[in-house]
Amino acid sequence: MRASDLLKSRPEGLYCPPGDFFIDPVRPVERALITHGHSDHARSGHHSVLATQETLDIMGLRYGEDFAGTTQAAALGQTIDINGVAVTFHPAGHVLGSAQICVEHGGMRIVASGDYKRQKDATCLPFEPIRCDVFITEATFGLPVFRHPPDHEEIARVLKSAAQFPERSHLIGAYALGKAQRVMRLLRDAGYGRPIYIHGALAKLSEYYQSQGIDLGRLEPGTVETGAKADFAGAIVIGPPSAFADRWARRFPDPISCFASGWMRIRQRAKQGGVELPLIISDHADWDELIITIKETGAEEIWVTHGREEALVRWCELEGIAARPLHLVGYEDEGD
Ligand SMILES: [Zn+2]
Repeated sequence: MRASDLLKSRPEGLYCPPGDFFIDPVRPVERALITHGHSDHARSGHHSVLATQETLDIMGLRYGEDFAGTTQAAALGQTIDINGVAVTFHPAGHVLGSAQICVEHGGMRIVASGDYKRQKDATCLPFEPIRCDVFITEATFGLPVFRHPPDHEEIARVLKSAAQFPERSHLIGAYALGKAQRVMRLLRDAGYGRPIYIHGALAKLSEYYQSQGIDLGRLEPGTVETGAKADFAGAIVIGPPSAFADRWARRFPDPISCFASGWMRIRQRAKQGGVELPLIISDHADWDELIITIKETGAEEIWVTHGREEALVRWCELEGIAARPLHLVGYEDEGD
């Protein structure tokens, strides 16, 4: 069987003709397999959804319990037969519940990795390299300029700044699913014992992480009531990036604005966003991680999605690995 007969790009998303299912479709479909809960991959309105239990739970929290007609939980490493196609979910190391989806039929094995990273992350299971014929990789940070430093070094810079400016608050912008909880956990692992104040948009997901045994320590609502401003002197407050433009952020005492994202590698981008303390913490693979992963899968062919496809395709060609961009529409890297 040819790879392009097993998985192909359609307007709704990546489609498997023999199995008659889509992976991370961007429009409502009959049967969807979902890699993880970020809103650009996990949408509501599908007739049936197959995903890890955590991803199903996260979709329920974000969209309400009726987000799909029917749901089925995929246990990691267990093969499920869909119309004669063998489907197996494996951990992707991206956010809690994130999985790569291995699709096998007629002697052809393709792994759709979804979003992934290789840096250690205490809030989710580590990425597992799967041998395959075709590996579908993201390329959000697919340029050699993107190299993410160790995350604990980035967190140490926040704690140093907080110690230097005890009268000021530190506001960290972090995506609501995954990044925010990873930052909380990194603060705890660095020995930060004070309550962490959070924007309301992070509450449900953070509670869910805690219910899954991921200890984030004491979290308090980051709500400034009249006259309570001084209570936040020296506090660390985490909110979604979107909250930084509104009044919520201006209520804190002399805030230092921090943003946790792989894009913070680009100084200009941090400056434009008014970020004083950029933190290069990403839930996506950097250039080195992409290269290592491609080699570890042993794949003879690489399909590159959402991001800077050209550099990675070129790198593969120089290594003698067939590669091509796979044009899928509608992905906006919610969790960069
Ligand atoms: Zn993602």
